[in-house]
Amino acid sequence: MDINKEMLFLDVRELCEKYIKPIAKQLDEISEFPKEILKPMRELKLFSLHYPKEYGGLELDYETSFEIIREISKYSAGIGLLYAVHWMAADVLLKYGTERQKEKYLKDLVEGNKIAAYAISEPTAGSDAAGIKATASKDEDCYILNGNKYFCTNGSLADIYIAACKTDEEKGAKGISLFILEKGTKGMEITNVIDKMGCRSSVTTDLVLKECRIPSENMIGEENKGFKIAMDGLVGGRLGMCAIGIGISEAALNKAIQHSNNRIAFGKPISSLYSIQSKISNMYIKLEACRALFKKTCKVRSSHKDYSLEASVAKVFIGEAVNSICYEAIQIMGGHGYVRNNEVERLYRDGRLIDIGVGTSEVLNMVIGSTILKMNSVD
Ligand SMILES: Cc1cc2nc3c(=O)[nH]c(=O)nc-3n(C[C@H](O)[C@H](O)[C@H](O)COP(=O)(O)OP(=O)(O)OC[C@H]3O[C@@H](n4cnc5c(N)ncnc54)[C@H](O)[C@@H]3O)c2cc1C
Repeated sequence: MDINKEMLFLDVRELCEKYIKPIAKQLDEISEFPKEILKPMRELKLFSLHYPKEYGGLELDYETSFEIIREISKYSAGIGLLYAVHWMAADVLLKYGTERQKEKYLKDLVEGNKIAAYAISEPTAGSDAAGIKATASKDEDCYILNGNKYFCTNGSLADIYIAACKTDEEKGAKGISLFILEKGTKGMEITNVIDKMGCRSSVTTDLVLKECRIPSENMIGEENKGFKIAMDGLVGGRLGMCAIGIGISEAALNKAIQHSNNRIAFGKPISSLYSIQSKISNMYIKLEACRALFKKTCKVRSSHKDYSLEASVAKVFIGEAVNSICYEAIQIMGGHGYVRNNEVERLYRDGRLIDIGVGTSEVLNMVIGSTILKMNSVD
């Protein structure tokens, strides 16, 4: 099936206007994901975009695919986050899964019939992912999983969880394996929905694993080699975060422009004031730079080269930009930006996640710095 990209974006916008816009504020208030939206999203094939045809995908380029997250995030960043994490998990299965795992799980994820989550973080291990404490011990042709996962995006919505556990507690990162865990596995329970500051239409939960027995064939990659795979998956997640950050920034800039043109102070629209023009200019320049970094990252990924450096650079920049753009949008709207009825207040809270989730800016700066130094070392 050939896809007309222009039509696809028109359809996505129509879907967002019809199903998300009217309830975006309410979703933020009640902190819920609107499950009824999954059906129209499936009908538009929005889960399938960059996946190979043999697994039910449309084989579109990464830019088109991740632009969809950006578009949705203009309306509700939490719904964009559903895709960022779902694709992070599905991409790991595509790249590292066995044919049997792909047959059993990937097709359903690509078609959106099932939703995926990525369970690495724990209450005591976030940036230091090698410090996880959940364990998986071998028992004949099974593994038995025990531990507590935290910050699980799509937690209660997901059908499939990619979970990291220690298979050798002595070996740090070299003792971690990755597993496919199905919802409903005996011993797995969600005991807490996390009450977040932003992206509240995304459901984030804990995940308690007590003597969860899963077949050995559900291991992704080899035993004790899961850490690298999990970290590789996060690179794709970073691209998703970039798309969300740009969507939030575009929405905030649009709101600020609208307000500037309509708000009269001292007898004229505030858009005629130099300080407002200067703010709009700075916001626009940052957004253009964000788009360029995002585009470049997608291009490198589409060429099947290592895009981890580009993804980290883009995420750090976009993380900073979205915070500053939303801050200025509120400033431009004055007191009106500070009240809950005006969307920029929500955008400001949503945008705060971008330089925290899927690797904080501090950690990514460290990675970028050491990579650049290594690339330029003289030995
Ligand atoms: C809404 C939301 C959704 C999430 N979804 C998921 C998910 O689906 N799956 C999942 O596995 N995780 C998820 N996470 C977890 C997320 O990846 C972590 O929050 C993030 O990696 C940071 O870890 P932490 O919160 O434990 O902070 P910490 O690691 O405790 O960091 C605290 C502070 O110390 C700094 N710091 C830590 N180490 C270093 C270092 N070496 N150098 C410099 N500074 C450092 C950090 O930058 C930060 O400022 C989610 C988080 C949120 C908020």
